[in-house]
Amino acid sequence: MTGRLIIASNRIAAPGAPRAGGLAVALADALAERGGGVWFGWSGEVLERETRGVRLFAENNIDFALADLTQAEYDGYYLGYANRALWPVFHYRTDLAHFDEADFAAYEAVNRRFARLLAQFIRPDDIVWVHDYHFLLMGAELRASGWEGRIGFFLHIPFPAPEVFASLPQHHRLARSLCSFDLVGFQTERDTANFRRYLVEQLGAQLLDDGTIQVADRSLRADTFSIGVDPDDIARAAESDEARSAAGRLGRITENRALVIGVDRMDYSKGLPQRMEAFGRMLDDHAELHGGVSFLQIAPPSREAVDAYQDLRQQLDQLAGRINADYADLDWMPIRYLARSYSRDALAGLYRLSRAGIVTPLYDGMNLVAKEFVAAQTADDPGVLVLSEFAGAADQLTAALLVNPHDIAASADAIYRALTMPLEERVERWQDMIRSVRDQDIGWWRRSFLAALDAAVVPA
Ligand code: ADP
Repeated sequence: MTGRLIIASNRIAAPGAPRAGGLAVALADALAERGGGVWFGWSGEVLERETRGVRLFAENNIDFALADLTQAEYDGYYLGYANRALWPVFHYRTDLAHFDEADFAAYEAVNRRFARLLAQFIRPDDIVWVHDYHFLLMGAELRASGWEGRIGFFLHIPFPAPEVFASLPQHHRLARSLCSFDLVGFQTERDTANFRRYLVEQLGAQLLDDGTIQVADRSLRADTFSIGVDPDDIARAAESDEARSAAGRLGRITENRALVIGVDRMDYSKGLPQRMEAFGRMLDDHAELHGGVSFLQIAPPSREAVDAYQDLRQQLDQLAGRINADYADLDWMPIRYLARSYSRDALAGLYRLSRAGIVTPLYDGMNLVAKEFVAAQTADDPGVLVLSEFAGAADQLTAALLVNPHDIAASADAIYRALTMPLEERVERWQDMIRSVRDQDIGWWRRSFLAALDAAVVPA
C-alpha cells in the first residue's frame, strides 16, 4: 500500500501527552506501521466564538491535525447530540435520550466542517479510518466534499437493534451516511447483525453472497472486529513500581481479606447500583464472609455527564452507605467506593491483587476493563472475572462467570462463587480467557480492520 493512513477520531492523543489509553497506542502504532500518516480530530479546546482552522504538529512520522470547537459546537454536537442522544440510544437507554433538533444541526455542522477540513489535506491514494459515534455523518460529508477514495468506519459502542436505532429522528440520515463508507466495523456479531438488519428493513439493502451489502448505488461491507488490549504491556504494568506501591497501600488496609474490584467510568451503562446491590445481597446470604471480603469500586465521574452522574452518584452513595452501615465493623469496611481515577499502572497492580474482578455493565460495546483484568493476573494464582452477558467481551471471554446484571440474586451467587472457587478451576478458566485476550489483541484488531479496508473494492 502506498497511500498514507488518515485517522479521524473525536479526541486524539496530542503530541507530547502520555498515551495512556490502549486505543491511543494502537492507533499511533497503526500510523507508525504504515510508515506515517495523519491523525485528525478535536484539539480538546473550546473557544468562545471563532475557531482557528487546522493546526498541524509533526511527531516522528505522524502529522497531527487538530481542530477546535466553539462553545456552541461543543454544547450542541458533543454534549448534546453525541452524549445525550446517540450514547443513550446506542446503549438501549431511550428513556434518557434527548432528541433536540438544534443539537442535531450542530452535530451535522461539525461533521461537515471537520470533513471539509480533512478533505483539504487527503490525497487520492490515502485511506481514511473514521472512529466512533461522534462522526457518523463524516462518510456522507466526505463524499459530498468530493472524496472518492477508501474510507472505513469503526463503531466503538454497540449498534442497537433496528427498532431502537429507529427511535432517533434522524436515523435514516445517519444510516445512509454509514453506507458512504467502504467498510463499517463493529465490536460484536450482534452489532453487525443489527446494522445489516436495519439496512435491509429500512433502506431496502441487498445482502450479496460474497458479504457485500448493496444499498441504492453504493456497495459496502460490514464486519466484526472485536477490539483488544496489549496483554504483555498490561502484565508489565502490573509489575511496575507504581503497581506495587498501589497494591501495597490497598493491601495494608484490606490485610488478608479477599478483594473484589470494579473499575469503570461513572456512567449509567455500567450497572454500578446493581453491582453494589449484588455485593450487599451476597453479604446478606453469607454471614461466613463477613469481615473476610472487601469490595473496591473505582468510578470517577466524567466532566461531560454531569446531570446523569449526579443521580447515579447519589444512588451509589446511598447504597454503599447502607451496606456499610449494615455490615461494617470496627476493623472492616465492606465497600470502598472511590470517585477518582488512577493510572494504568496502579490499576494493573490492583487487578493483580484482587481475587475477583466484577465487570457488569447493563450494555457495553466491548469493555476493555474485562480484558485488562484478565491480562493483569498471574498464571499460578489468577483472579476470577464476573462478567455481564451484555458486555461485548462476553462473546470472547466465555470462561468468565457470566451473569445477567439485572438479576441481583444470580450476580450475588456469581460473586460468591468467584470468592470460593478452587485454585484449579480458577487457573483453567483464566487460561481459556488469556488465550483469547492474546489471540485477538489490539494489534490483531487494527491489522484485521486495515486489511479488510485495503481489500475493499473502490468503484472506478
Ligand atoms: P468505556 O470505553 O465505556 O469507558 P472500557 O471498559 O472499554 O469502557 O474502558 C476504557 C478504558 O478506560 C480502559 O482502558 C480502562 O482501563 C480505562 N478506565 C476505565 N475506568 C477507569 C478509571 N476509573 N480510572 C482509570 N482508567 C479507567
